[in-house]
Amino acid sequence: MKKKKLILINPWNQYTKHGYYDTHALSPPLALGIIASLTPPDWEIEIIDENFDEFKFKEADLVGITAVTANINRAYELSSIYRKANIPTVIGGIHASMLADEAATFFDVVLIGEAESTWRHLINDFEKGKLKNRYQGELLPMVNMPIPRRDLFHPYYTYANIQTTRGCPMNCDFCSVHIFNGSRYRQRPVEEVLDELETIPQDLVYFVDDNIIGYSRQSAERAISLFKGMIGRGIKKDWYCQASLNVADNEEVLKYAAESGCRMILIGIESEKEEQLQEINKKLNLKMGIEKYQEVFDRIHKYGISVLGALIYGLDSDSKQDLFDRTQFAIDSGMDAMQATIVTPLPGTGLFHRIEKENRLLSTNFPEDWKHYHFLEVVHKPAKMQSREFMDAMQENWSIMYNDKLLQKKMLRSLKATRNAKAAAWAYLSNVERHNLVFRGIKPPLDPNILLKGLQND
Ligand code: SF4
Repeated sequence: MKKKKLILINPWNQYTKHGYYDTHALSPPLALGIIASLTPPDWEIEIIDENFDEFKFKEADLVGITAVTANINRAYELSSIYRKANIPTVIGGIHASMLADEAATFFDVVLIGEAESTWRHLINDFEKGKLKNRYQGELLPMVNMPIPRRDLFHPYYTYANIQTTRGCPMNCDFCSVHIFNGSRYRQRPVEEVLDELETIPQDLVYFVDDNIIGYSRQSAERAISLFKGMIGRGIKKDWYCQASLNVADNEEVLKYAAESGCRMILIGIESEKEEQLQEINKKLNLKMGIEKYQEVFDRIHKYGISVLGALIYGLDSDSKQDLFDRTQFAIDSGMDAMQATIVTPLPGTGLFHRIEKENRLLSTNFPEDWKHYHFLEVVHKPAKMQSREFMDAMQENWSIMYNDKLLQKKMLRSLKATRNAKAAAWAYLSNVERHNLVFRGIKPPLDPNILLKGLQND
């Protein structure tokens, strides 16, 4: 019997697609790999990532698409192409989960929340000719998780990715993670993560968890077991992850992270001032204290790991001077890589509701205007500046912080602080990625591919 065909698509992002953007920075669409893994074996599956492959219509029985806010319009376009051919379409991902009514006007089916509890039912219903319009996912415990079908991913991703935890008990105003994945921190059993890691062929791995170490002594111990397990099983990877400032509380975490191949940690710094942290409800940073930032960076460096600091610009409490102060802090502090983004009210967040209520959204022709919601454009009226003035100031700040000479100087400083060439190179690559995103069309100071080659051959 002929197999049914499922096409899964990661739509292109209008912002990254048409500029100078290195595909090395792309991660595989893990959610599509999981969906493929949940699909019965009598289906033929193809995963298309439009960041690599030009779209060409192909026949299918069912089409599934994932999208975030910035690329949702492309998802809507793709859906209309398939619906015209009478092929049913399914949308999942964070945007559609937050705005299911909007998504339902463009897709036959909206899959809300995490897919593990719903996808098999959806396929079952499809096979019986009884597809529903919506499926609501549950927040299941992360045990016996499906292993993503990495064999279906495009072969040219430089990094592999893997997820070991979901959910966040914090409640930052601008973030939708705790809304999508819930406020309970769920952890996969260490042995299951190690088994999956052993199936990953790439040397460079990105742990996509929002916080790999969590917020409790137990979760820190679990992270240590994971890192020790990697060492014990001889899983040799160079890896990068996200964590909160408390990653440096327990030096055993850093010691075993480094020994198992950790080269860089992204930390949500957001601001170097208390007023802004209070505004966004960044509880952990406030609890640790801004005066501790440097100590945390130094401790991470001590173990040969670099720090990628995520910073937010344009908060209501930010004056124009505050933007330049934040940049100066990023330059002077020990953070190795800098991710400077414009505060963006994403649908579903507390920030969005507040800004909408105050009538301060500038781009409101939805869904068309979602294309502007990619963290590098001003989409709402700042409280203390005109929007034009703010955007000009951002361009100036980006020019200061992603300046060629400064990036090279930072790399040398990282090398000195971490005494680890891979950690310094990884931080430099991350700065180059931001440089390329911010200054589309302008060549980066050093070719990241040369550095990457060095990383892989080392
Ligand atoms: S920004 Fe980080 S700490 Fe805050 S709610 Fe989101 S995931 Fe949690």
